[in-house]
Amino acid sequence: MVRVSDCLPALARAVSLAGVIMLVAAPVSAQTSEPDTPTAAATTPQAAEPAGAAPAAKPDKKAAAPAKVLFGAAKTPAPLAARAIGNYARGCLAGAQQLAIDGPAWQAMRLSRNRNWGHPRLIALLERFAADVRANDGWPGLLVGDISQPRGGPMLTGHASHQIGLDADIWLTPMPDRRLTEKEREDLSATTMLAEGGLAVNPQVWTAQHVRILRRAASYGEVERVLVHPAIKKAMCEATAGEKDRAWLGKLRPIWGHHFHFHIRIACPPGVAGCVAQAPIPGDDGCGKELEDWYKLLTAPPKPRGPPKPEPPPITLAGLPADCRAVLEAPAKN
Ligand SMILES: [Zn+2]
Repeated sequence: MVRVSDCLPALARAVSLAGVIMLVAAPVSAQTSEPDTPTAAATTPQAAEPAGAAPAAKPDKKAAAPAKVLFGAAKTPAPLAARAIGNYARGCLAGAQQLAIDGPAWQAMRLSRNRNWGHPRLIALLERFAADVRANDGWPGLLVGDISQPRGGPMLTGHASHQIGLDADIWLTPMPDRRLTEKEREDLSATTMLAEGGLAVNPQVWTAQHVRILRRAASYGEVERVLVHPAIKKAMCEATAGEKDRAWLGKLRPIWGHHFHFHIRIACPPGVAGCVAQAPIPGDDGCGKELEDWYKLLTAPPKPRGPPKPEPPPITLAGLPADCRAVLEAPAKN
């Protein structure tokens, strides 16, 4: 089955920009005009009150505000125990840890977005992954794109997922052998792995090292999914065609976009309530019918029936798990 809930392709991102600008103005005032303490109204949906109940509760404007505006404005993590709350595309993150801007084998990109925050388990995995590819895979280091916002949650631009600190985007461009300036980290373009036509990888840019780093990403027990463009999945299937152990290949999930970067998703940390796991992956290598179905979609996209569906309304704060309000409102440390 094809799911489009992961990363938005670049085109959709660009298209959504205009809408985003409109969304910024109104909800910010909703945020600042509300008290910062939760009230009974925050946990009692208005619709659940008996008709004619008096006195009427003050409308909870903050609960009805788009969560992407509220969480997009959070500049610091919630100083609470680390916890991924909700599901990958509807949730938030307590106790986020920041990936260092520079590490021994990585550099964080697009610093102005302030999205290099994740659950400590993900940050530890990224640090380990970076060291492993540098030591073993002929890959000088990782350029790390978006992880999550300081308190997770929906974002003003891009990404349906990345909300609970368990998703990270890694560029398919190797880290240069020098420290990038802040401006370069904003301006540098990633390279698409696709050949013209978009149905295969481009042998001019796709290398054996790409195969190695994607294999390694899938090798970690905590990694449940590695999202890549169908053409990259196909290239991975072909590069490993003679291998017997193919279970790890099943973690490489085809999805739109994801040819400039790949996306690592780790499992819900064990033993913590409130993190909603995804359905398990099918269990085969995904190189057969699933990939064929994707190629059918790529070569002959289904014609839309009827008028285009309206955009779903943005997720409101009340539409997130209840604990996300406490995450949003926890006072920053100092
Ligand atoms: Zn992503």
